[in-house]
Amino acid sequence: MENKIQVPSHLAGIEKIYVDRSMVEAPLTERVTGRIPHIPVEVVDPENFPHEALGEGQSLYLKEYKGKFLKFCPGTRYYHCCGYRIIHIGENCPMACSYCILQAYFHDKVLKVWANQEDLFDELGKSFSVDRDARFRVGTGEYTDSLALEAVTGYSRDLVKFLGDYPNVCLELKSKVIDLSWMDVVKRTDRILPAWSLNAPFVNEHEEFGVSTLKERLEAAKICADAGFKVCLHFDPMIRFDGWREGYAEIVDMIFDYLKPENIAYLSIGSFRHMPHLKPIIERNFPETTYIYDEFIIGNDNKMRLLRPLRVRQFKFIVDRLRKHGMDKQMYFCMESTENWQDVFGYTPKDLGGLGKHLMKQAFGD
Ligand code: SF4
Repeated sequence: MENKIQVPSHLAGIEKIYVDRSMVEAPLTERVTGRIPHIPVEVVDPENFPHEALGEGQSLYLKEYKGKFLKFCPGTRYYHCCGYRIIHIGENCPMACSYCILQAYFHDKVLKVWANQEDLFDELGKSFSVDRDARFRVGTGEYTDSLALEAVTGYSRDLVKFLGDYPNVCLELKSKVIDLSWMDVVKRTDRILPAWSLNAPFVNEHEEFGVSTLKERLEAAKICADAGFKVCLHFDPMIRFDGWREGYAEIVDMIFDYLKPENIAYLSIGSFRHMPHLKPIIERNFPETTYIYDEFIIGNDNKMRLLRPLRVRQFKFIVDRLRKHGMDKQMYFCMESTENWQDVFGYTPKDLGGLGKHLMKQAFGD
């Protein structure tokens, strides 16, 4: 039986655990219910999940997932996508960032965790061993935060342990919380990439709730770097607000109080972009938020993005600042055009041999 844990503050809102009838005996269910034994548990049949009974509090749903666990990132053919693969471990996030795309992806806020881990490991094992020379850059932080639920699920730790047998796979753990409990099971530090999103202090203070501070993230990144890991950083989304230059300069400078450029495998930069229907959701969930009224156009992928000159101005500013600290080819754009690459970096993904291939090399330390 798992020991009860001290629940971290970002999980303090969980009031109920739902478990699929087929998952009652799953090891993950035993672990979660052992770690937070004070939370009431209800066994459900998935077709009768009691959506209407959900209150204001958060619910955790240990579910049997029937789909594919290994997916392609939903990039588009119009912009340069980084070609990374998603290991789907669950959906939704207990934190609240005003810009979070998950608000538009999912119709409820239930924290879903795929409890049939055996099926997940079975599928991954098959996929990763077909050709041991084929390399995979994978991550779990697409439909959820990689580590937000780690204290109660231990999911990433299990995954890290499992991937120890697959040196052809490099796993990125992307998060806005600090949880380093997976570190002691790492076989090869060069196959795990701890990753944190960063933003201007103003954005962290006004648009991100329940998350760690920027200082905490960088302190954790330093612990990882000192332990021999390379880390990844993500400036996504960059947002315009009064004083954005000072704000982004401050956080860029702060990075190098903790890390050296060679500690960073890669660093992505992306401008705030959204499906049109996310805007009213943000208005409703975060009525204080103002950046959604900036000057946007609809891009080729039907997402709203900041007018090109405004985006490029911000990109140039942050890239220049990062370059002054010694950052170079490990910087890349998430979903931008060839023109913007050329204008800001002075080269295109093609010059790097293709973005996917380039990042694969950065991840594997070639
Ligand atoms: S931490 Fe990430 S996944 Fe969670 S609310 Fe913020 S942006 Fe969304």
